[in-house]
Amino acid sequence: MVYSLFFRTINNVEELDKYIEILTSSFTGYGHYLFQEITQPSWHNYFYWLIGLSLMVWVIEIIIPWVDRGTAFRKDFWLDGFYMIFNFFIFSLVGYNAISDVAVEMFNDVLAWGGMENLVAVEIGSWPVVLQWLTMFVVVDFVQWFIHILLHRIPFLWEFHKLHHSVKEMGFAAHFRFHWMEIVVYKTLQYIPLAMIGFGIQDFFIIHVFTILVGHLNHSNIGWDYGPFKYLLNNPKMHIWHHAKILPYEHRYGANFGQSLSIWDYIFKTAYIPKDGKNIELGFPGDEEYPQGVKKQWLAPFIKSSKSSN
Ligand SMILES: [Zn+2]
Ligand SMILES: [Zn+2]
Repeated sequence: MVYSLFFRTINNVEELDKYIEILTSSFTGYGHYLFQEITQPSWHNYFYWLIGLSLMVWVIEIIIPWVDRGTAFRKDFWLDGFYMIFNFFIFSLVGYNAISDVAVEMFNDVLAWGGMENLVAVEIGSWPVVLQWLTMFVVVDFVQWFIHILLHRIPFLWEFHKLHHSVKEMGFAAHFRFHWMEIVVYKTLQYIPLAMIGFGIQDFFIIHVFTILVGHLNHSNIGWDYGPFKYLLNNPKMHIWHHAKILPYEHRYGANFGQSLSIWDYIFKTAYIPKDGKNIELGFPGDEEYPQGVKKQWLAPFIKSSKSSN
């Protein structure tokens, strides 16, 4: 049904021209944006916030390390640094932004063809701005918690998510060690729930910066849990158990799936912190076989799925 709608939509040559136009302008637009970000530091600038927050958490790791490794450069420090820059900026530059802009336009055209203007179920655009931020933050965090469970439960998705779980030593940049396909999965699956509250793909700067900070801290080598706030906010002492190599049978598909908030894991009984996780082994069963370099790590899920389909 959706497919036939889709092909009817792009059958029209003018429509195709429109998509190509969006593709090229989005591509050059993002290149221009990234250049501006790097050359013009400002308070509203992701590039320098990412660098600044990374330096801040790194300095705390050096001053009060949880596990004292005697070095500021843990295993895979530079590999994860590469993933951080690639997943945050370069992947968008090499086409994700352009393709997702086209996908959104096609999706809207399909809706329009079906007689719907948009998917908005609750219009929160007229609410006070702080309430909008909070709603957005809580809804996105819940949806991402759920998508994270899917990454663990669906074998095809787990092959991509393994890259994040190949971290053997925690450190802030491990936050961004994940396969670029995860960006596609998260953005695609969260698009409809967010469109229902009238948000589409735009995001709020301040929320995004906050989630980067919490995510960096979750993966940092810092023994913090924020005291009573641990039931609300995800934290290093909780997230380390998400990365535990060995989990009990009842948590065989994983535990502590929260992104910024820990509350979902407590509500839905997926929280698991049996003891201080400072010295537990990280990884996943069979990670000894997992490839080391970026290229092999990117290709691994595709090779695996073509093998298993033979
Ligand atoms: Zn995970
Ligand atoms: Zn993690």
